[in-house]
This record gives sequence, C-alpha cells and structure tokens, in this order.
Amino acid sequence: MASTTAIPDLDRLRPAGTKRSSKRDLIVNVFLKQEGHLSADDLVVLTKRADERISRATVYRTLQWMEEAGIARKVDFGEGRFRFEHSYRHPRHFHLICKTCKRSYEFLSSDIESLVEEVAAARAFTANQSVVQIYGTCESCRTGRAPEEPSNSELLFARDALRIAIATERSGMEFYGRGVKLVKDPRAREIFRKLATEEVHHLKTLEARYDDLLKQDPLLESRPTFLFFKGAANGLFAAGTDQLRRDGVDDLEAYRIGIRCERGSHRFFKRYGERFEDSEGKQVFLEFAEEEREHLELLIREYRALVKRQRSPGHKALVAAKRPQAGRAKARSRTASR
Ligand SMILES: [Zn+2]
Ligand SMILES: [Zn+2]
Repeated sequence: MASTTAIPDLDRLRPAGTKRSSKRDLIVNVFLKQEGHLSADDLVVLTKRADERISRATVYRTLQWMEEAGIARKVDFGEGRFRFEHSYRHPRHFHLICKTCKRSYEFLSSDIESLVEEVAAARAFTANQSVVQIYGTCESCRTGRAPEEPSNSELLFARDALRIAIATERSGMEFYGRGVKLVKDPRAREIFRKLATEEVHHLKTLEARYDDLLKQDPLLESRPTFLFFKGAANGLFAAGTDQLRRDGVDDLEAYRIGIRCERGSHRFFKRYGERFEDSEGKQVFLEFAEEEREHLELLIREYRALVKRQRSPGHKALVAAKRPQAGRAKARSRTASR
C-alpha cells in the first residue's frame, strides 16, 4: 500500500559525530515504507530487493541505529526474535497478535492506561512502560475473509482523537445551549451564549480537520477502531447536560456544572495528549486542552463575579423585594465552592 508516513529529518535525528551514509538512508526508507512489524530478516530481504550489495550486517547495524535515533521501536511478540515498528510520530500502543497467521493489530485504550496508572500509584511504583499483548485468532483466520490491510496507526490515532474531540464539542454546544435558556442573570446568559458560539466554531474547525484527514486515505472511515475511550464517546459534557435538566438548578449551580465539565475535559485531553509521542493526534489533544482551559478560567471568573454581585446590598434588596424567602437561597449560595 502507499505509505503516508512522514519521513523524519534524518540529519536532525542522526546522533552527533556520525556520518551520513546513502546505504543507511536507503535502509531507513525501505523500513519506513512498510507498515506493521518487521523482523530483522524481513528488512534484510526487502533491502536486498532494492540493492542486493547491502549486507545483512549493515541492515542489522542500521536497525540498531534507528532504534537509538527514535525511528524504530523493538517489540517482542514471544516468537524468539524481535520485530521492529515505526516509532517516529507513531503513538505507543498495544497489540492483538494472531497465533495462526502471526499478523499483529494495533490499538490503544485510555481505560487500560488509567488502570495501569491506578495500580502503579497504589503501589508507589513509577511505571515507565507497559506492554499489553493479546494473543488469539484474528477475524481473517477465523472466517477465511481477506485480512485487513495494514493501516497507518498515526492516521487512525488522529482520526479517533478527532472523533472524540468532535463528540465533546457537540456535547459542549448542547450543554451551553441549554444553559442559555436556563440561567436568569443577563451576564451569565451572555457568557453561556458566547461559549455555545465558540463550541460551534471549534466544531467546524475540527470537522474540517477531520475531512482533511479523510483525504489522506479513502478507506480511513471504515478502518477498525484504534483508540478506545470508554465514557468519552458521548462527549464529556453529556452528564453535565443531564444535571442541568434537574429541578432547582440556579445560575451558580449551572456555572459549577460547567466548571466541572470543562475541568474534566481539560485534564482528560492534556494528560492524554502529553502521554503520546509526536503525532497529529497529540497536537489535536493539546490544542483542545488549551481551549478548554480558557473556558474553565472564564467560568471560574464569572462564577466569582456572580457570587459577588449576589452578595451586594443592592442585589439583596432587589431579591428581598421580589421573593420573601431569599434567606434560604443566600445560604445555599454560600456553600458554593469552585
Ligand atoms: Zn490470523
Ligand atoms: Zn505495533
């Protein structure tokens, strides 16, 4: 298949003091044109096809160099020999390994990663790396259907990260749209409307990016899920929108729910984005985290300003005139925390 993998800048990656070699460049290019997990012998065969004068020893040396330079990553599928996969701009991932045909399939799961973090934290263990390999029989071996074409995990990661970001923006848009109708304070209504409008804008940007991504691979939409994100599929604001529907949600409570959603969304994208190596998906996540942080800060500022306004003597007099039992509402607003 045609590869869309970005070719790293070899000059930049080359360790100091080593010379550029055309043989090495050829081997690196042969390696990067392949998707999936190659053994050293696979790479020898492919390299010899391109230039039969290149020796086995040179290929082995180059593989070791690629590993040090961050272009290749060693993986062990328990076959008694290592395999190598791209590591440049290729997010870390887990593997499904078919015992029958020896093919391997890549995936990622935020739930597995948070479980690993939870266990490590509980045992005061600093985890550097976790390897998840699931052995069994692939669909193709089980059904006789043609095997799925190896796909570019970088693109799949970007596709899935964008899908989650889009779902989140959609749920955010719905959340603020509902908020606009609910809040009484004119300033709060203005803020919710502003945020709803921004989510619409973000959504359009993300959708345009998603369409651009699809142009890189016409089959991208139909390829299997790479990134599994339990709980994020409906958007991180979906629970907040449900809470807004409850009885007795006042303006301050609406702000508090919004703050919780934005904070959850910000943390989620930031923590996740940072864990990945350079890739389009990482960039999407970090940009998104930054935008959510700005929303979070705005909501916190506005929440505090509203508390202040509601405590002012003018406001109290106004509420007291409108509603004889304002004392209870005031007591409730005092328990508000950020
Ligand atoms: Zn198989
Ligand atoms: Zn892999």
